[in-house]
Amino acid sequence: MTGTVLEEGLRGAGGQLLNGAQHRFMFDYDPKGERATRDVVSRGIYAEMRKNNTSTNGGVFISMAHLGPDNVRAKFPGMVKRCADSGFDLAGGLVEVVPTAHYFMGGVVVDPDTRTALEGLYVAGEDAGGAHGANRLGGNGVANSTVYGGVAGDTMGADIRRMAALREPCLETLKAEIDRARHPLRVKPDLVQPLRHALQEAMWEDVGVMRTETGMKRGLRRVAEISEALMTVGVAGDDLAYNLTWHDWLNLRSLCDISEAITLAAVARENSRGAHYREDFPEEGDLDASYFTVVTAGGSGTEVRREPVRFSLVRPGETILPEGEPETLVAAQ
Ligand SMILES: Cc1cc2nc3c(=O)[nH]c(=O)nc-3n(C[C@H](O)[C@H](O)[C@H](O)COP(=O)(O)OP(=O)(O)OC[C@H]3O[C@@H](n4cnc5c(N)ncnc54)[C@H](O)[C@@H]3O)c2cc1C
Repeated sequence: MTGTVLEEGLRGAGGQLLNGAQHRFMFDYDPKGERATRDVVSRGIYAEMRKNNTSTNGGVFISMAHLGPDNVRAKFPGMVKRCADSGFDLAGGLVEVVPTAHYFMGGVVVDPDTRTALEGLYVAGEDAGGAHGANRLGGNGVANSTVYGGVAGDTMGADIRRMAALREPCLETLKAEIDRARHPLRVKPDLVQPLRHALQEAMWEDVGVMRTETGMKRGLRRVAEISEALMTVGVAGDDLAYNLTWHDWLNLRSLCDISEAITLAAVARENSRGAHYREDFPEEGDLDASYFTVVTAGGSGTEVRREPVRFSLVRPGETILPEGEPETLVAAQ
């Protein structure tokens, strides 16, 4: 199924998820129903899809009509229009939905000031890991990018002022990277998109909403095959300015690298946390001994290791909120 992304506020406002038989199924999986966290809702929908309790196109439905079509139109004008553009009546009818990936919780390891292990490289926003743990709360994606974008700017300015002189670039490294980027221009042109679709399918099927070791190892093989095939696909054109096919090729190579890193990390983590759900290891494991997984590309290939989570403000099970407030926050998620 393809289409557009619907905002979580629809579930928060009272939207109901119905399967192909129009049964409101989320309460079969969680007492909070549609207001459970996004990972739980994704797994609920996915479970219905596996049981073939689906709409004609293989998804489920979201229904808002019981809240009053005029009310829905007034509260969610953007969503109503977006659904209409895809041929659905959100205010009065049923809209077909499926889970999808719309955020990357992992990212480059940074310190609180956005510095990375590589001097002079700063990473902020969705590309930086660690801000959200295993499960981002709604709204915190934009907040993260905005706040840490500002922090990165301040930090870079302060660091540069402390430097005696700007470093000379390493010409050897630059030459090697230019050579790597120009690879597809030396190969016979072919289509990039079928490989991109193949990667999408492999990650959805084998490293998606519910994961197993067997599935992910199959996924790793598929990603390796796609990476290998990509090196035989060339891009036409001598003029590199605005050569979007070349950009697609470069993006796909990065997507293959990231897919490999995600899969290796997911195979190594034998417990389930937030968006990472292992059917073969459904327990969340010892929260006090929480760790995060670090994947590095070293001289001897890709390496996976664990780093302990240091609870500097609160430990699992504790809160810094005044009594009575946690419930409010959970409901707003
Ligand atoms: C459909 C959808 C709905 C979302 N809804 C919400 C929400 O309701 N609330 C919320 O908090 N978060 C939401 N998010 C998440 C949030 O939007 C993102 O996490 C956030 O926008 C990321 O900002 P960023 O600046 O870190 O990265 P981006 O916004 O991805 O910016 C990265 C920029 O870098 C550019 N770029 C990439 N490669 C290169 C290159 N090689 N050279 C130069 N430029 C390059 C890209 O074109 C892009 O402009 C949503 C995400 C999606 C996809």
